[in-house]
Amino acid sequence: MANELDFSNRSALVTGAASGIGAACARWLDTHGAKRLVLVDVDEASLSALELGCQVERITGSVGDADQWEQIAPSLAGLDHAVVNAGIGGSGALGEHDLETWRRVMNVNLDGAFFTLRAAIDAMKAKQGRSGGSIVITSSITAIKPVPGIGAYGVAKAGVAHMARIAAADHAKDQIRVNAIAPGGVDTAIWESSADFRASVSAHGRDATLKAMAETTPRGRFATPDEIACDIGYLLSDAAANVTGHVLVSDGGYSL
Ligand code: NAD
Repeated sequence: MANELDFSNRSALVTGAASGIGAACARWLDTHGAKRLVLVDVDEASLSALELGCQVERITGSVGDADQWEQIAPSLAGLDHAVVNAGIGGSGALGEHDLETWRRVMNVNLDGAFFTLRAAIDAMKAKQGRSGGSIVITSSITAIKPVPGIGAYGVAKAGVAHMARIAAADHAKDQIRVNAIAPGGVDTAIWESSADFRASVSAHGRDATLKAMAETTPRGRFATPDEIACDIGYLLSDAAANVTGHVLVSDGGYSL
């Protein structure tokens, strides 16, 4: 029987690959036999530090920069898979957002996802001989469950969840599957951008802060980036060959 989780001879694009969920996806794909990875992130040092066994092209730049994607396009020739993952945190009540905050979050989390998705689809459609591919966009449980103070971040994450469903409908005929994942809390560096998180870490330590934050999650703890990478890997893989336009909630029961 074929191993549907085998990525031998496959190539994949991962954005936000220098840290957290993106880095875990790069490692997961490497471990599952991927031949070539194209990794994009603004954090050049952390991207360089990522140790992988397969062929890797590391590109430093912002996913929210449309011109950047024209330069990246040649590197995506023959692309089989994409993890549209780069994102930044953002908090505050919507009615108190200034335009700069709104635009900063939308540029990376919504525009950036669109530019990445479009570049991946272009590359997959241009492939000679092997048609199609699969794409996973990292949304968030805040796309589904509105929580106070999530602001533009939650709006952008709802946008990318629906973007995945629309792209799935548009590109099924091209044999391209597009899904999204909606994680609950995940223990990554993204939380450091929150002033409240940093204050709590200073006062109580990181472990205690995460434990307190996970009290509203029935499972009682945040996910690890590797756990989310397994979910994403499944959606990318041939094991999910019939799954497209789905938003997979992986939140330890938070939204129940
Ligand atoms: P992270 O901060 O560990 O990783 C995000 C990566 O994206 C970083 O390496 C960062 O440098 C990169 N990045 C930021 N802006 C970029 C840009 N403009 N262009 C290219 N790269 C950029 O955080 P993470 O938790 O691994 O986040 C990954 C994705 O998961 C994000 O889209 C985030 O919104 C989403 N998410 C995270 C959680 C969580 O609790 N950590 C929950 C739900 C969804």
